[in-house]
Amino acid sequence: MKNKLLDDTLERLTNAASIAGIPKSTMDKLSKPDRIIEVKVPLQMDNGKIKELLGYRVQYNNWLGPYKGGIRYHEAVDLDEIRVLALWMVIKSAVVNVPFGGGKGGIQIDPKTLSKQELEQMTRSFTRLLTPYIGPEMDVPAPDVNTNAMIMDWIASEYIKNQPFDSTQGKKLNSKNEQNKLKAVVTGKSLENGGSKGRENATAMGGFYILEELVKKLNLKKPLTVAAQGFGNVGSNIAEKLCQNGYVIVALSDSKHALYDPKGLDVESVLVYKRESGNVPKVEGKEVTKEELLELPVDILIPAALEDAITSQNAPHIAAKVVLEMANGPMSQEGDKILSQRNIFVVPDVLANAGGVVVSYFEWYQNMHGEDWSLKEIKNKLKEKMVGAFKEVWEIAQEKKIDLRTAAYILALRRLHGALPPKS
Ligand code: NAD
Repeated sequence: MKNKLLDDTLERLTNAASIAGIPKSTMDKLSKPDRIIEVKVPLQMDNGKIKELLGYRVQYNNWLGPYKGGIRYHEAVDLDEIRVLALWMVIKSAVVNVPFGGGKGGIQIDPKTLSKQELEQMTRSFTRLLTPYIGPEMDVPAPDVNTNAMIMDWIASEYIKNQPFDSTQGKKLNSKNEQNKLKAVVTGKSLENGGSKGRENATAMGGFYILEELVKKLNLKKPLTVAAQGFGNVGSNIAEKLCQNGYVIVALSDSKHALYDPKGLDVESVLVYKRESGNVPKVEGKEVTKEELLELPVDILIPAALEDAITSQNAPHIAAKVVLEMANGPMSQEGDKILSQRNIFVVPDVLANAGGVVVSYFEWYQNMHGEDWSLKEIKNKLKEKMVGAFKEVWEIAQEKKIDLRTAAYILALRRLHGALPPKS
């Protein structure tokens, strides 16, 4: 099933390449990742028992810069999933024109079953296994599903702890400045530990800027109704931003519940409840099923959970005018085709959710150059990047009369092909 996601993406890329005249030799090079790291991660449980977990890091492509992409902790993580997520990162970094390649990693575990101590111990074991393969100029992980700033801080600290000593002088090789640079091994860190202002909600902010541009282009009139699937980092932050800016959030869900109120939900109180209890409340609005949420009569549908939310099964029943893909790969190729035939506008993940990698780049840059940018500066630079990428994708789509996903893929392929040395 997840293997199909990779095949579908390569098929879509090949289609984009033929429209853009990208040679087959370039496509062949992009058909497989550069390196797959598969490790057994030892986890010592609080009761003293040792469990062995499956851990992965896929380094897909680095023509444009160091491998870059999140670390996911989820019981459904497997190599097929991490591989396709890594390829999407290659495309995404190229679409928004940041000097990064694409990678992804993860551990097959439901982290909610672990104590904080077990979570830290597992993260540090995984980092030690990855240390020879990651680094500020080699491969730079970031947060993804079920990982956050605290986990990124542990990765940075464990990576730095495992750097070589100068045995002749008996001290660390790295000066204070070099030590600070080493923190660029991972982005999405806490502010106290070298993180960037604006990283926490960067993905959501990026999606918001893109949606605002699209609303202007399509001449949609506010207030616009929104249903959001997934209420984690991305889903909750975008819901909050949208309801402050003329959108009405009528439905939202997490892995346990889905809520619907056609008059609009009180997002702030759902957020407070979620922060305190870990779940969205059962009480706000009317409870619908997670599947029903996707088919509600809204202006904008935002999948912000996991892959394959929209498939050939439910695509005929999607009632939104616009789908903003904030999750990675929330739509199967068949689902995409059906929505396109039904004239539902889809903003692809590689554009809609690229705000995270953009501010990750800002964080990496600040660490590498000893700089500290203000939140205002970061917001302005993020907006500029996202709006710029949207305009480029939109122009290609108009010129070639194609959907935004194919246009985004063409933009990425042009940049990737352009990075190759002549005659390679
Ligand atoms: P998260 O772990 O913070 O949140 C995931 C949310 O999805 C949770 O609320 C969970 O309960 C919910 N969920 C899981 N299964 C669900 C289901 N079947 N129905 C409804 N809700 C469900 O993760 P996140 O960081 O917000 O990531 C969400 C998506 O966005 C993922 O696809 C991720 O790859 C993508 N993404 C994240 C970032 C980032 O910066 N965090 C950047 C780009 C893309």
